[in-house]
Amino acid sequence: MSYGYSYIINEVKTFKNVSIIGNTTEHRNIFCIRIGEGDIPIVFAASFHGLEYLTTPALVSFAHNFDKMTQYHNKVQIYFVPMVNPDGVEIALHGINPSNFYHKKIIEHVGITDFSNVWQANASGVDINHNFNADWKSVCKAPSPTKYGGEFPESEPETRAVVSLLQQIEPELFIAFHSQGKEIYYDFNGMESELARTNATEIARLAGYTAVRAEGTASFGGAKDWYVQEYHKEAYTVELGFGKNPLPLSQLEGMVKDTNTICIGLIDKLIQRGCK
Ligand SMILES: [Zn+2]
Repeated sequence: MSYGYSYIINEVKTFKNVSIIGNTTEHRNIFCIRIGEGDIPIVFAASFHGLEYLTTPALVSFAHNFDKMTQYHNKVQIYFVPMVNPDGVEIALHGINPSNFYHKKIIEHVGITDFSNVWQANASGVDINHNFNADWKSVCKAPSPTKYGGEFPESEPETRAVVSLLQQIEPELFIAFHSQGKEIYYDFNGMESELARTNATEIARLAGYTAVRAEGTASFGGAKDWYVQEYHKEAYTVELGFGKNPLPLSQLEGMVKDTNTICIGLIDKLIQRGCK
């Protein structure tokens, strides 16, 4: 079983409400699945990073599960973006094609030929999770397997797709799923709410994760960072699983379980608060 672009193409066919919120440089679709008609909007997104492709089946599995949990459907409305960076996932899984214009550029810039253990960026060598307009800065100067923030904030189609979805929906809860570390990041430059800190700590304990405050380069230009900065609502980066990326398939079962625990835990808290 491979969890690349063909996986998500097949999976979206099994859901009723599916839209396309963006197209990548290599013309792949960025899909969004909506479940529920309640008043409380929520956004969950995964696979911002190529090597972290197992976050996609973990989130899709939760979407299937949530589809059956009809008791929630008149309370919340969830938008799932299970694969933000399909080009990056494909490069991490299947390597690079020198006949592809973008790939050729990458090979020239980066000077590597084995992408299977390093590729986090999109097809232009930009790290989506350093391309958001939140304390944006470039750590490295050129396209790279990881941590290149792009020429300017929101330069990438994947970033713009996520930004415009969040602007449209203004979710009360936004989770960006990554791997690995079994951690929940909840802050950005001290702008997070007290509630986010309390909830992250409590839900982390429930899942056997650690709630952490991001330090240094771990926190800037990320999706969660931007959302906390712009809307001051609950937003988290969840690092699923534990080990070295790409995580082995044997981790998936645990990642599925943890995604369920964390999502349902935070959804229940939102509903209890009667948040609108
Ligand atoms: Zn990541």
